[in-house]
Amino acid sequence: TFYHAAPGRYDDMAYRRCGRSGLKLPAISLGLWQNFGGLDAFEEGRAILRRAFDRGVTHIDLANNYGPPPGAAEEMFGRILSTDFKPYRDELVVSSKAGYLMWPGPYGEWGSRKYLLASLDASLKRLGVDYVDIFYHHRPDPDTPIEESMGALADAVRQGKALYVGISNYRAADAKRAIETLKALGVPCLIHQPNYSMLDRWIETDGLLDVLEEGGAGAIVYSPLQQGILTDKYLGGIPEGSRAARGSRGGSMGADGVNEARLAKVRALAPIASRLGLPLAHLALKWVLRDPRVTSALIGARTVAQLDDSLDALKGGALSEGDLAEIEAALTA
Ligand code: NDP
Repeated sequence: TFYHAAPGRYDDMAYRRCGRSGLKLPAISLGLWQNFGGLDAFEEGRAILRRAFDRGVTHIDLANNYGPPPGAAEEMFGRILSTDFKPYRDELVVSSKAGYLMWPGPYGEWGSRKYLLASLDASLKRLGVDYVDIFYHHRPDPDTPIEESMGALADAVRQGKALYVGISNYRAADAKRAIETLKALGVPCLIHQPNYSMLDRWIETDGLLDVLEEGGAGAIVYSPLQQGILTDKYLGGIPEGSRAARGSRGGSMGADGVNEARLAKVRALAPIASRLGLPLAHLALKWVLRDPRVTSALIGARTVAQLDDSLDALKGGALSEGDLAEIEAALTA
């Protein structure tokens, strides 16, 4: 069926400036790491993407290896771009990344110039586009000089293959060096993509947010629902069809991710959510967005209903100081 984007798609979404750049991102962005591969239902993925765009989600996050198999998510999204989203390319911010294993041999992963630029070309082909909006180095490479990896990102911009660049999974000290190196090359670091949720707060203690603020880079935080644990779905066991029940795919959480320490925190948070009249997922998303240095919360969705539910977290006001204190107490008890 022919797709016309909803005319009111920009009415309800909030857009937040990414660091000190000119680019704004939706407060909630959608990632295609899981559920958009060759083993997943194409039509459900397509419906999720249409619905997301209809609700103002202008940013879709990808990587070379998303699938399974690796590359399948970019191919899937490339199909959607060439059909449903064809008239809307300039309304979309599409990202990709390189860093994890893509092909055999010494040039198929990590951070050499050889790998990064070859991988970007392959991503552009799968996506069927001339450029991506953001190209990331997906993980730090301890063995490649930062000047080489960042030089490859800067050249991707100079070649017109990426409009902006970013880094992902870099700790604060490495992020600082990457940001300074890019700055010296004349290409600012737009964004950092770390994981962050009420159950994993390393970016606070590591000082990453301070480094990003100082360097003018934004943050898009992934797995804000801790892969689904920060809904109430795992409180009564592992439901059929859930991520934990499917077993690890491409590094995703298996059943062992649903451990007692995490569930204890979820149980402590549940009464706070219910007192506020919010689903737990909304509490989790409002919580990561409480800090203006977090530009966007990067969610996943397996169904349109899940997507809708998560986007509804933007309704209503922000959490109050009192709510935040109560959450802090529940998380640190
Ligand atoms: P989330 O924490 O948002 O987890 C999403 C999963 O939680 C869904 O697939 C679904 O899993 C479950 N869920 C979501 N909403 C609901 C709901 N309303 N009710 C019940 N269950 C729900 O994020 P992801 O872990 O999926 O990561 C999001 C994106 O972040 C990725 O697609 C990717 O773009 C990026 N990312 C980046 C990484 C990096 O290294 N840079 C690493 C990981 C992710 P279920 O199947 O159980 O229903």
